[in-house]
Amino acid sequence: MSRRGGPRFIDVHCHLHDKAFDNDRDEVVERALKSGVEIIITSTLSTQELKKALDIAEKYDCVKVSAGFNPLNFSVLDAEEVAREIKRLRDKIVAIGEVGLDFFYARGEERERQVDIFRFWISLASELKLPLVIHSRSAGKYAIEVLVKEGYDRVLMHAFDGSSGWALKGVSRGFMFSIPPSVMRSQQKVKLVKSIPIEHLMVESDAPVLGPEPEKRNEPSNVVVSATKIAEIKGVDLNEACEVLYLNSKSFFRF
Ligand SMILES: [Zn+2]
Repeated sequence: MSRRGGPRFIDVHCHLHDKAFDNDRDEVVERALKSGVEIIITSTLSTQELKKALDIAEKYDCVKVSAGFNPLNFSVLDAEEVAREIKRLRDKIVAIGEVGLDFFYARGEERERQVDIFRFWISLASELKLPLVIHSRSAGKYAIEVLVKEGYDRVLMHAFDGSSGWALKGVSRGFMFSIPPSVMRSQQKVKLVKSIPIEHLMVESDAPVLGPEPEKRNEPSNVVVSATKIAEIKGVDLNEACEVLYLNSKSFFRF
């Protein structure tokens, strides 16, 4: 139970530092806390974002930072700069991510360069003993293949858009999957929730995107929507489902 007596949540993946929240971040955080969200993990894509996210985490006790890299940035120098920052700030960072593959936009040779940089992040995570949060847009199968080959298992696949078959290959390696509120309008996400055991699920908002309504700004309090839908799909009691999802996240990140 949360401090307010209801179910408690961890938003394992969002972008609270995004400029979409610059005008009302206090209220957004307040609404999340009121909904039972105890921890919000904001995920960065560059050195600049990392700096902003760390400032925000200083301000709000409930905010933690996951440091990642935009898969559509092919600059090895930029990746190395972010890696140096991650090493320097190791104690202020709870995970490496999102990192991974985005085959929606990348083609041909660009995909190979993405895989190379992705391998670099996997080895850094294993060196620093940090969990990995994976972006795998239109590349679920490929991301899982690379992870399995590299042999790194402390993995959270966020907003996975691949098939349930490939997801279950990840599950067999112990991978976790976080479900965004867009599960309300995505048959693929419903299928995913049906096939993945609840012990391998978490909730994320991916705010400001992937909300229950496509055109509306999403926010961390909407992890309640994800949890409610997961409980419904699994046919389990809502409070019990929330507690399992909460404890899954807590033990994965070792909070
Ligand atoms: Zn994201």
